[in-house]
Amino acid sequence: MLPDDARMRIDAVRESIARAARIARRDPAGVTLVAVSKTHDAEAIRPLIAAGQRVFGENRVQEAAAKWPALRAETPGIELHLVGQLQSNKAEEAVALFDAIHSLDRPSLADALARAMERQGRRPALFVQVNIGEEEQKGGCAIGDLPALLSHARATGLAVAGLMCVPPLDLEPAPWFALLAKLARDHGLAGLSMGMSGDYETAVTLGATHVRVGTALFGQRS
Ligand SMILES: *Cc1c(COP(=O)(O)O)cnc(C)c1O
Repeated sequence: MLPDDARMRIDAVRESIARAARIARRDPAGVTLVAVSKTHDAEAIRPLIAAGQRVFGENRVQEAAAKWPALRAETPGIELHLVGQLQSNKAEEAVALFDAIHSLDRPSLADALARAMERQGRRPALFVQVNIGEEEQKGGCAIGDLPALLSHARATGLAVAGLMCVPPLDLEPAPWFALLAKLARDHGLAGLSMGMSGDYETAVTLGATHVRVGTALFGQRS
């Protein structure tokens, strides 16, 4: 991607976020744009960094560990978010690498993260991923298990920043976003990680604090 191209795409996404925020009478500054750089190499990522983007998302620990230490050494102030499923045996590495983890979805992972945070003295922000459409193949905790998981996380000493979801494909996303927002409100959680390239404006009108946008910033993944 050429530098001008990267800047145009970021400006376009930021403008769409601002427009959606205005519709909902929200401050656009309350929405963090997480640029999801999974599958894209350093050459593709650098133009976005040059255009001022500092918050990035990856969905695999291994891939992030291979790409980001070098990019971070070039530019201070990069914030890295994990937006994909996390195995408990990678919790240690994830806590070392990421500033936020959007995929806490079970008590055993909460335990592994709590141990890793204690050992490392690092505390990435945590979002609980909810399987909002109750889909068999999808990650995330069942809606019915959410209260117990949140209690468990709190009992383990973990602060939960908010909730995250990926709504069912090919369905109107707004009802799922509204449901996630209600669940967050019910549990006193301020953070809402929802919205991807196809639906982030809708997510912002319904309260998203973090939108996770890949394709609209980087182009199609191969
Ligand atoms: C890949 C991915 C995104 C970004 O998706 P786009 O449609 O490319 O914007 C967002 N969230 C998660 C969890 C992802 O895996």
